[in-house]
Amino acid sequence: MSTLIRTSAAELASILATGEASAVEITQAHLDRIAAVDDQVHAFLHVDAEGALRSAAEVDKLRAAGDDVHVLAGVPIAVKDVVVTRGLPTTAGSAILRGWVPPYDATLVTRLKNAGMPILGKTNMDEFAMGSSTEHSAYGPTRNPWDLTRIPGGSGGGSAAALAAFEAPLAIGTDTGGSIRQPAAVTGTVGVKPTYGGVSRYGLIAMASSLDQAGPCTRSVLDAALLHSVIGGHDPMDSTSLAGPVPAVVEAARNADVSGMRIGIITELTGDGFQLGVRERFDSSLAHLVDAGAQVVEVSCPSFVYALAAYYLVMPSEVSSNLAKFDAMRYGLRVFPEGIDDPSAEQVMAATRDAGFGDEVKRRIILGTYALSSGYYDAYYGSAQKVRSLIAADFAAAFEQADVLVSPTAPTTAFPLGAKLSDPLSMYMQDIATIPANLAGVPGISLPCGLAGEDGLPVGFQILAPAMKDERLYAVGSALEQRLHHAWGGPLLHRIPALTETKEA
Ligand code: GLN
Repeated sequence: MSTLIRTSAAELASILATGEASAVEITQAHLDRIAAVDDQVHAFLHVDAEGALRSAAEVDKLRAAGDDVHVLAGVPIAVKDVVVTRGLPTTAGSAILRGWVPPYDATLVTRLKNAGMPILGKTNMDEFAMGSSTEHSAYGPTRNPWDLTRIPGGSGGGSAAALAAFEAPLAIGTDTGGSIRQPAAVTGTVGVKPTYGGVSRYGLIAMASSLDQAGPCTRSVLDAALLHSVIGGHDPMDSTSLAGPVPAVVEAARNADVSGMRIGIITELTGDGFQLGVRERFDSSLAHLVDAGAQVVEVSCPSFVYALAAYYLVMPSEVSSNLAKFDAMRYGLRVFPEGIDDPSAEQVMAATRDAGFGDEVKRRIILGTYALSSGYYDAYYGSAQKVRSLIAADFAAAFEQADVLVSPTAPTTAFPLGAKLSDPLSMYMQDIATIPANLAGVPGISLPCGLAGEDGLPVGFQILAPAMKDERLYAVGSALEQRLHHAWGGPLLHRIPALTETKEA
């Protein structure tokens, strides 16, 4: 196994700069690893070996010619399959988009390409990003590299698993209610949901437009900051894109300065609902932050107890509208109903949506259509929007008392495949701590804070900051990461059980 695959993106950048390894070598090492382990992990839905090697070769040529290139030029990346990529199949984990090849690139993909980052392929996900386990993918589940009988989180389980299995040094995720942060938590990786509007949504297949946010998935806080700087910043193609420069996230990650910072523990996101080992790792991380010079305070956000309920009205309402475009006429699958000789367009649409959407997607379309229906709109959607304002007000009040807020990222460690499939509500509970940030549009990070005593599986530590203060996530995250690495004698992923390489590279 090549050591290049265990190297951070920041280190790969300096290896490339000094010429110790070429972009082609680095890209090939990751493609070999994918070939050797992905039949067990199933992080990828599509691998683009040829395209990745071609762009790596171009970067090598530019460097050899002495051209100025981006620091991450030649560092390969995996992209969640909800992000459109010109010429590469994009399915969003759904059978309804099987075989669809987009004619354009998402803005964030254009930015990766402009930076010279080879795209290794597209990663598996819950269908249309609906789920917390990647089991709702129409193409079969992804497995957690820590324990192949367990889930890698969701909906971005493929991106997180690709990092933990050393198949990619960097990945892209999207987070509507926790799909970057919860997979990061249960795989021992790092995930950032930037401030809403901080990374362009142009070219993301929309789930719930007022909540969706793309962001970095990495193995270190600094790597996340480097990637955030590549994909972030204003985009005229997205009407909700923020004006102004990307926050100074790389500087914050490098300085890791938390002296005098007030860290607020959210009372409502601690306690009995969280697995014992999760709480223990969370508490010991707080001690490290105090050691680094921060001050810990307790803050209450009373409306957070309604966040999950509000989310499961706002999100399905937007889903029912966003997914109306999958009508068998414009993209992907088209199914003709059986036994009807001359079917109407409506009959073809119905047969296609019946065959092409999975159960979880149908459940949410039905929920959302109901919540928006005449006579119920005020009672459901209207009330949920009011709760959303209360949650934003809770955040505003909490950020008067603290510079960042913290909680465990997820209530449990990775659960066994199949454990929650028949009980949607218990699956939804996975996002209890991540959803408030989406409802309010504030940024959040999850970073690994140790292994739970009872099952030896990774635990995530969540940090939330006020909107457009993303740099604080990186300052606090980096300070905690440094102390934890010191205590562990290296990154947590060094303790992951080795996967058997089934195919000769
Ligand atoms: N797990 C949450 C859901 O099922 C969040 C998904 C997401 O962030 N895309 O809706």
